Amino acid sequence: MLMQTDAPRAPADPVARRRTFAIISHPDAGKTTLTEKLLLFGGAIQLAGEVKAKRNRVSTRSDWMGIEKERGISVVTSVMTFEYGDCVFNLLDTPGHEDFSEDTYRTLTAVDSAVMVIDAAKGIEARTRKLFEVCRLRDIPIVTFVNKLDRESRDPFDLLDEIEKTLALDVAPVTWPIGRGRSFAGTYDLLRRRVRRLDAADDAGTVPVSGLDDPLFDTLLPEAGDAATWREEAELAEGGCKPFDLDAFREGHLTPVFFGSALRNFGVRDLIDGLADVAPPPRGQDADTRAVAPTEPKMTGFVFKIQANMDPNHRDRIAFMRVCSGKLSRGMKAKLVRTGKPISLSAPQFFFAQDRAIADEAYAGDVVGIPNHGTLRIGDTLTEGEELVFRGVPSFAPELLRRIKLTDAMKAKKLREALQQMAEEGVVQLFLPQDGSSAIVGVVGALQLDVLKERLQAEYGLPIDYEPTRFTICRWIESEDQAELDKFVGSHGSSMASDLDGAPVFMATTGFSLKYEEERAPAIRFTDVKDYQ
Ligand code: GDP
Repeated sequence: MLMQTDAPRAPADPVARRRTFAIISHPDAGKTTLTEKLLLFGGAIQLAGEVKAKRNRVSTRSDWMGIEKERGISVVTSVMTFEYGDCVFNLLDTPGHEDFSEDTYRTLTAVDSAVMVIDAAKGIEARTRKLFEVCRLRDIPIVTFVNKLDRESRDPFDLLDEIEKTLALDVAPVTWPIGRGRSFAGTYDLLRRRVRRLDAADDAGTVPVSGLDDPLFDTLLPEAGDAATWREEAELAEGGCKPFDLDAFREGHLTPVFFGSALRNFGVRDLIDGLADVAPPPRGQDADTRAVAPTEPKMTGFVFKIQANMDPNHRDRIAFMRVCSGKLSRGMKAKLVRTGKPISLSAPQFFFAQDRAIADEAYAGDVVGIPNHGTLRIGDTLTEGEELVFRGVPSFAPELLRRIKLTDAMKAKKLREALQQMAEEGVVQLFLPQDGSSAIVGVVGALQLDVLKERLQAEYGLPIDYEPTRFTICRWIESEDQAELDKFVGSHGSSMASDLDGAPVFMATTGFSLKYEEERAPAIRFTDVKDYQ
């Protein structure tokens, strides 16, 4: 086995063979390129370039609003399922632009591991660090891929050191680069003593070597002295770095590191083999009443993403649900716990690079798309009857608040419905002021406002504008003491609103005034993160 671990693997067991993961990176580090190459290995697509091609296609379709196309960013989150070796991989894509970071955070609640892509010339960048912190909160194990070794890069030790120091994460290099930039010639597998040559016909072949003194390295690094220096470094990497430790990795304390070039499709096979070998199978999930194990026979799952207009011919809404336990079978009836009503899973779907297909069955770790017309919302739990709600699909206090201005007053009712729907999809957060004034929407990033405006126009024929509000901050408020809560709400009527679930939200004009209120009302908890439920 690649990493010489005794990771449990039983190919016949559908849960044990699943690997559900996301790629986290700073924009431009190579996430899209790597995704493409991973899918190629899975046989999910025939031609490199198809992910982008597909994105463009989707964007011209789903994106009749044009935002994605105009700005060249990916607004959608999607899932791609593929098989490789004994494993079924579910790769959950996350939007690259930080204005959609809420979407990314929610997606990370549905994965069991993550691949962190780092640009070898840049090291850890701001967004990588932020996304890493989100993974750490959930103890998601991280596999690192240092990309773009074919370009001028930083010293590998320097990069490892940076990961260790800035992320407080132990590093265990699995492969080691032979040269870099123009002299990049391949990688040396520190565990199996094999060389993968950049000039090999494809990414398949490795050559066994006797050790670091093998003459092959002199051929690969022909410049005077290069091979000698490299040997010293590799020896240090071999002897001086932490060995790979499965438990430490699974607990989120250590990351195995691979070096390569996604563009050259180099080192990607080592990465995917590594994921198959050591990335964890589906984890248990915490619900309000108990923890749910993936091997339990009854089906449970939660919705972490709603995507509308994937195919405008159908005007459909797809709820992406992570199956947490049991087996989801096509045609089964599930219980939507929020409403207590049954929902028929007549056409659950799997997504591939270019296609979707009806899922006859799905297991823990799988992500299925459930077409619906607004029945399902983010955070919903589906079960076979049990009353339980999965925790941890978060909502963050928005950083931008805007009042909606409707140009046609006759359409107020339609607007209310449309806003409710958009909020249930997680496009924006909706706050209805207690004083009856017009709705306030909250977002983390300004592009969300553009998406809302375009969609209200295109889907509902509602032209809107935004107006500033005097409020700049909002917080959910809670208290064990209902009387205190009622008192606070009563005495702050003009600053109070309710969110989608009817939960009370306090809106403040400045950070200073929020602090003032917090100090004056010690019985009230002001929170900036809320679980969907
Ligand atoms: P994303 O923003 O993280 O999805 O990054 P992309 O995959 O779109 O890559 C950003 C740019 O880096 C593109 O121009 C890629 O062609 C380029 N790129 C990605 N991987 C490599 C690599 O391994 N080597 C080189 N030289 N360029 C790469």
